[in-house]
Order: sequence, then structure tokens, then C-alpha cells
Amino acid sequence: MTATFTTERSGTTTADIDHYIGGQLVVNPRAARADVYNPATGEVTGLVAMATAADVDAAVTAAAEAFPAWSATPPHVRARVLFRFRDLVDQHADRLAALITSEHGKVLSDARGEVTRGLEVVEFACGIPQMLKGEFSENVGRNVDGLTFRQPLGVVAGISPFNFPAMVPMWMFPVALACGNTFVMKPSEKDPTLSVELARLLTEAGLPDGVFNVVHGDKVAVDALLAHDQVEAISFVGSTPIAEYIHTTAVANGKRVQALGGAKNHMVIMPDADLDQAVSALMGAAYGSAGERCMAISVAVPVGAETAAALRERLVAALAELEVGPGTRDGVEMGPLVTGAHRDKVAAYVATGVEEGAELVVDGRETIPDAVGKGFFLGGTLFDHVTPSMRIYLEEIFGPVLSIVRAESFAEALQLVNDHEFGNGTAIFTADGSTARTYLHNVKAGMVGVNVPIPVPMAFHSFGGWKRSLFGDHHIHGPEGVRFYTRNKTATTRWPNDIQVRAEFAMPTHD
Ligand code: NAD
Repeated sequence: MTATFTTERSGTTTADIDHYIGGQLVVNPRAARADVYNPATGEVTGLVAMATAADVDAAVTAAAEAFPAWSATPPHVRARVLFRFRDLVDQHADRLAALITSEHGKVLSDARGEVTRGLEVVEFACGIPQMLKGEFSENVGRNVDGLTFRQPLGVVAGISPFNFPAMVPMWMFPVALACGNTFVMKPSEKDPTLSVELARLLTEAGLPDGVFNVVHGDKVAVDALLAHDQVEAISFVGSTPIAEYIHTTAVANGKRVQALGGAKNHMVIMPDADLDQAVSALMGAAYGSAGERCMAISVAVPVGAETAAALRERLVAALAELEVGPGTRDGVEMGPLVTGAHRDKVAAYVATGVEEGAELVVDGRETIPDAVGKGFFLGGTLFDHVTPSMRIYLEEIFGPVLSIVRAESFAEALQLVNDHEFGNGTAIFTADGSTARTYLHNVKAGMVGVNVPIPVPMAFHSFGGWKRSLFGDHHIHGPEGVRFYTRNKTATTRWPNDIQVRAEFAMPTHD
């Protein structure tokens, strides 16, 4: 029931993107709306409703009303809904990927991969009943038994970034729902359609109304979730300043919170590395999805002058071959950035790097094919001789900009990575097991690749960074996700035939 009409601004056809509450779209003709773009054309293609605090309250209330029945549903019956949802997402994967490309801009194969990585979390969640098993100790006292079990929290909320509009929500809600919680999703307002499509598929899979709800919006919607006393926990993924704000505010409001933040991921290239392998890995990791990945490699650290010279030469050659264009076009390897404002921000960082004295080896501002028209494009950019005090090194750029920071030794490279404020992911390319092991053991980052450029863990492990890339105690999905969305209860039980009648005033023991 998505309405389409013609906006006066652009003359193109746009779709209204509405909240999904209590198992249906909530269409409000008077809602304030924000533009959603097709980044490949620069045209407004959607108008997303921006939630007020009252809209958020309606979603949380629907989730709270659905909680008693959903949490009382046996875990394997909850899992069956997720099995059906898994099949539906699989059946609709190409359509979902096309929607991702139309709002985010990434190439279709990348969008399809995103859907697959989200599906893997759903598959993990289908097995969660196994992880909800408790512990039981017989006869901890005479005729007394002890037991521990996990219970859901209640209404939990997810707030997600623009760069994975399907996968990041799927890092959260399948695990939360399998554990018996009900959910309110606040996706990025830049590409909000995917969350609504996933909500529809959940309903089609048999999820009861109100168990999963979507509200759109910005800070107003987020702040309403953070303040709502019926929201028990918040999962956030986004930039570090907002992650820190979410963590501080949610904790102050008595909520459990996991807030995954930004990144600056380094790849160390040792002199003994297979350079062909390292360069092709680096090209994909730095420029795939136009660098808009929290696990993108944005810093290459070749060890030794010879490694640096050889790496640079091959990167320049590879960049000359990089196909930039609309994500729907065959053969294109890198699409546009998500919005014009974001493209301009990344281009401004390129200017900053030049002012700071870094050597601009390939300038992506000049390599955009004319044929791409008004889309939000920026070509692959390469800096060399970047130093640790430069802003282009210290700050997350989140675009197709790779910096080479040269190191003279392995120890210097390791120190560089460890001194950076972010610690999301990192990789080392080497043929030497001992070097790899030393790196793996000592590097201060949450996810490490050895000859693997983007070490995103499988769904049955947990995903998360260190340092200022994560605020809170829990990584996301996998076993940490189950711990995050449940709490322990322990019980000590004795049955009436053995109850003692005399009052006991000493500290109870089981002796
Ligand atoms: P963002 O922080 O701007 O937005 C994330 C979410 O927060 C959105 O839903 C947005 O509406 C909301 N938001 C924005 N400003 C807010 C404010 N002032 N108050 C309250 N809520 C606010 O991030 P983004 O630009 O959408 O996404 C890119 C960022 O996400 C990058 O920094 C990237 O590294 C990070 N990211 C991290 C991970 C990870 O796992 N660590 C994964 C993906 C993306």
C-alpha cells in the first residue's frame, strides 16, 4: 500500500515510505517527510515519514502489547516463524537487493551479498532455542534444586545506519525476536524502505502483529526511543559521536545498550606478502561499496620502502581500471555515494588531505565518467605519504579514499594501528605464520583478518570492535547477541513435603 505521486520539486515519481506499526502501514497524509534519493541519478524517489514522539509511542505501545503472548510462545514455535521468514527473504532476495541499490547506490552483487549476510543471522536465530537452555543443579541442599534460565527483556529497539539497510537491522531483530522480545526498528532515514519490506515479510511469515514495528525519522524519533520507559534495551549501529551519545543517554535512562560506532581500518602489508593478492584484496576492501563500509580498509600500511613503492604502483594501475557507474549496470564495480551532501563531505576531505601535505596520487574528483550525470559519484582516490597527525588519517572519511601510511618495521606498523582511536577491524597480509600470530595476539581491534581483508565474522560468532568503535559490553549477533537480548534468572526450589516449619534466622545455607 505504498502511495505514489509526483512531487512539484523534481517532477519525478516518488513513493511515500511510512511507519509499520501493529502489522500494518500507518499512512498519515499530514506527516512531515524527508527526501529519499536514488544516488545514481540524484533524483528524489521517496518521501519518508518522520516520526514524532507520539508515533514512537504508538510503536512502543504496540510492541509492549504484543510482548506477553510472544514471550510466552515456545522458543521452537518462535523459531518456526523465523524459518518461514528466512525462506521468504531468500525468495525475495533479488528484489530486496534491487531496492538496496536504488536507495543506497551500491552495486547489485554487493547488495545481494548484503542480503545473504543478513540471512545468515536469521539462520543463526532459527537455532536460538538451543542457546536458551538453562542450567540445573539437583540437590544443592537436602531436597533443594537450583536452576538458571534466560528470559527476554521486553520491548527492545534498534537504530541503524544507512550503509547496510537490510543487513544491520537483520544483525538485531532476528536474534531479539527468537529470544522472545518484541521490537521497534528505526532505520536510517536515507534508505528506509528495506526495513518496511522486511516487516511485511515477517508478517507474511506469520509473526503476530506488533511483535516487529518500524518507525522512521531522525534525532526526534531516536530521542523518543531513548526516553521511553517501556523500551528496555537499545541496539545502535552508526557513527562514533552518535554511538557515544546513544550509550550515555540510554544508560542514564536505565536501559541496556550496545552501540557500535565508526572505524578506520588498517591493512598491514609485509614485505613477504603476495602483492597481487594483497592489491586485489585492498581494491575490494577500500573501494567496494564506495568505501561506505564500517569494515572498509581506509589505511594501507606497507612495511618497508620497497613494499610501499610496489604497492603504490599496482594500486595506481588497478585504480585506472576501476569501473565507476550506476550500481545496476553490468560490469560496474563501484557505485555512487549515498547522498550529495555525503559526496561533498568526502570530496572536502580530499581537499583537506592536499592542504595537510599528503601526496594526492589519484584524485577521484577528476575521474568520474561524464556519462553518470547528476548522480552522487566520486572516483576512487589514493593518497600516499599520509602521516598520523593528519585529519585524513585520524578521522573516518567513509568514502572511496585510501591512505598509504608508510612504516619502516612491523613493530612500527603494529604501534600505528594500536594508537588509533578506533579499533573495529584490521588485516595483515604476510606469508609468515609467526608475524601473523604476533599481530593477531597484540593488535587492539575487535576483528582481525590474516590474509583476509574484511574479517566480518559469521553470524554464529559475534561482531564488534574495540576502543571507540564500540560503546557497551556486548558485541552484536551470535552468542553475545543472545546474552544482550536476555537476562538470567536463577531459582532455588523445594517442594512442600519437605518444608521446615521452624523459622530460621541465620544466613540460609544449603548444609
Ligand atoms: P549516523 O551515526 O549518522 O546515523 C546512524 C543512525 O543514528 C541513523 O538511524 C540516524 O537517523 C541516527 N542519528 C543520526 N544523527 C543523530 C542524532 N544527532 N541523534 C540521534 N540519532 C541520530 O551514521 P550513518 O552516517 O547512517 O552511518 C555511517 C556510520 O555508521 C559510519 O560511521 C560507520 O562506520 C558506522 N557503522 C558502524 C558499523 C559497526 O559495526 N561498527 C556498521 C555499519 C556502520
